[in-house]
Amino acid sequence: MANKTALVVSAHSADFVWRCGGAIALHEEKGYDVTVVCLSYGERGESAKLWKQEGMTLEKVKTERRKEAENAATALGVSDIQFFDLGDYPLELDTDAKYKLVDVIRKVQPTFMLSHSQYDPYNTDHMYATRIALECRMIAQAWGHNPGEKVLGAPQLYLFEPHQTEQMGWKPDTFLDITDVWDKKRAAIECMQGQEHLWDYYTNVAENRGNHFRRNSGGQAGGRAAKYAEGFQSIFPRTVDEL
Ligand SMILES: [Zn+2]
Repeated sequence: MANKTALVVSAHSADFVWRCGGAIALHEEKGYDVTVVCLSYGERGESAKLWKQEGMTLEKVKTERRKEAENAATALGVSDIQFFDLGDYPLELDTDAKYKLVDVIRKVQPTFMLSHSQYDPYNTDHMYATRIALECRMIAQAWGHNPGEKVLGAPQLYLFEPHQTEQMGWKPDTFLDITDVWDKKRAAIECMQGQEHLWDYYTNVAENRGNHFRRNSGGQAGGRAAKYAEGFQSIFPRTVDEL
């Protein structure tokens, strides 16, 4: 039987590392094949440290960001990482680019998807990526789009934790214990040389969510002493047989 799969739609090439690197590494260890799509490199808006170097060009920044993201993907055990190189600040997708993402979604047939918060006034690329993820998920479900292809089922879309969490209207309803794969996530974080100022910040986030996990884990995870966790907000209802 083929492995289960998951798909991450990341606006910029480092977002998947901070926000769901633990989920990626954990599911890879569980036998999932995780595909990461980076819609852009974040070359204009999320590469300040690189731009401060002498003689920097857009192409050099993109090359550097791609290398960092590939190294991080390797650290997390990512099965497949794809770079759409659509530009950032602003990120924009025309219909062809959307159909390209639909093709990936149909090919991967993800058990679940991951993307950004639905609201992000600091970084409109992020909320735009989520809108696109939902739109392309919908197109991938349409029998009339490229008839004959296997249509998409109804994978959950989990929204990973944004920056400046409290201002994003993001409310987690799921905590994932990533303690066992924390070393992989930290290694991936340290691949992001251009954003060193975020390394400890996202370590703190993981510790805080670990605390949050412990506070809530009594009935659900046996009171397990999670040290690091990631939070997610799910878009769609869960369909259950038992509560
Ligand atoms: Zn970003």
